[in-house]
Amino acid sequence: MTPVESESGEVTASETLGNDHSWVSIIEIDENAISKKSASDVVETLRTAFATGRTKPLKYREGQLKGLRRFLEKCSEDIEKALYKDLRKHKMECTMCEIELVLNDLRHTIYDFKNWAKPKKPEKRLVNILDGVYIYKDPYGVVLIMGAWNYPILLSLGPVVGALAAGNAVILKPSELSPATANVMAKLLPKYLDPECFQVYLGGIEETTELLKERFDYIFFTGSTMVGKIVHQAAAKHLTPTTLELGGKSPLYLDETVNMSKATRRILWGKYLNSGQTCVAPDYLLCTKPVQEKFLQEARKVIVEFYGQDPKKSPHLSRIVTERHFRRLVKFITFENVAIGGSYDETERIISPTVLINVSADDPIMKEEIFGPILPIVNVKDAGEAIDFINSKEKPLALYIFSKKKDVQKMFLTKTSAGTVCVNETITQLTTENLPFGGVGSSGMGNYHGKYGFDTFSHHKAVLVKDYSMFTDISLSLRNPPYTPMKENMINFLVKRRRGIQFRYIQYVCVFILGMGFMRLWNSMTGDD
Ligand code: NAD
Repeated sequence: MTPVESESGEVTASETLGNDHSWVSIIEIDENAISKKSASDVVETLRTAFATGRTKPLKYREGQLKGLRRFLEKCSEDIEKALYKDLRKHKMECTMCEIELVLNDLRHTIYDFKNWAKPKKPEKRLVNILDGVYIYKDPYGVVLIMGAWNYPILLSLGPVVGALAAGNAVILKPSELSPATANVMAKLLPKYLDPECFQVYLGGIEETTELLKERFDYIFFTGSTMVGKIVHQAAAKHLTPTTLELGGKSPLYLDETVNMSKATRRILWGKYLNSGQTCVAPDYLLCTKPVQEKFLQEARKVIVEFYGQDPKKSPHLSRIVTERHFRRLVKFITFENVAIGGSYDETERIISPTVLINVSADDPIMKEEIFGPILPIVNVKDAGEAIDFINSKEKPLALYIFSKKKDVQKMFLTKTSAGTVCVNETITQLTTENLPFGGVGSSGMGNYHGKYGFDTFSHHKAVLVKDYSMFTDISLSLRNPPYTPMKENMINFLVKRRRGIQFRYIQYVCVFILGMGFMRLWNSMTGDD
């Protein structure tokens, strides 16, 4: 169902998905569904299927990727309705930030993954001139992907794209906090993907704890830093490699050089998208007092433009995921700090876009990731102080710089560390398919998206192939005892890393290449290859 425009051209709440719940009958949702099979049975099924080698052929992988694409295309209505139920997500956000993002990753991967899967031939050194030197991309085997509730489709199926393309068998564990979307995936995905090589496992903390006792060949986790540590410890017991996509406080620096009206739109779109429940949302803003005043002036206008006079009634604001999260957030709203917003609706779990001022580094809101529609402003005297502030905290998942000054941009880029950086824009560094996405330090380890996702889920196997030619044998014999100074010199000459070939040595190189060519010809004639 598409929102219909009224005569004034505005889209009103009653015309959006909000009032239509007839869809519930399309697919029965059990809010507390847990998987009936035990964790060990699920892992065993996938391990047995993987061992047959059926996930490895590129044709099979392509079939799985196309199956996933069909699921997203054919079930988009079920997905949108589930996302509405879980988070009151607007249809446009469902398409723009969830379905289309995964579809784009899929399109890109379907076009290119056969190239990514080909053995690569790295540059060779003199010592390996006659050898085959390759990097093979092997699937790991049975991989566990744990998704998060805030973008339950994007953060569950995004990693699945890379895992399937790389030829793995996948267990997907969606978040129990977005149960409707988790159920849609559990009920409908098996119709589109090979159920012996792909399974959705439902449940909460208890079931996840059971699942984590199993041995996986790779674990990909998206969620909080705290649970990330639990997952990492469980993985360490089996020496399982992991990617951890975690969170933290992502700072935004704003200075007076920008066009404040444009900058404010970009900042507030990124902050209030999905009601701030976005891992890369700007968490807090750093600026001088005069910049703060200009920003507040614009922000008041922009919030009305985006969400109307009473944002709590806007159909474009998502719901806070649970009562627990809602209560945690409203505690941050101390009225003496409210510059904009500050109101909320407890029954609907909606918090209007809020900006807090006079916030200091010691306030509770600065001690944990906010993950809600509240933007605190911390005043600094200049970019240098902002950098010191950022560096005194854990490394963030995203860092935003709003400045036209190239030297300021460069200062932040060279003097801070963050998973991703975006200059004069928010969030969209994540949607740029040729950029890796991931954190650093406590915001995570490893990355994905497009080819980076394929590489994450592939073991890069080093392969060296020697022949039995005369030259190979002579060069290998140099390493054998008895050791002599002459052998040592020759070995050093062969293995020494060189920066290209200098012109004065060109005659020796020509003789060497001619010798090699002759040797190859001789070998092929004598069958010594
Ligand atoms: P969470 O870490 O609380 O929960 C993640 C999952 O882990 C849950 O669904 C649950 O099944 C499981 N879990 C929770 N406690 C557990 C325990 N004690 N033992 C075993 N399993 C347990 O995270 P969340 O609330 O779902 O997501 C919010 C966090 O995730 C934020 O910090 C946010 O920044 C981060 N996040 C990061 C990204 C990213 O791409 N880097 C994306 C989305 C969210």
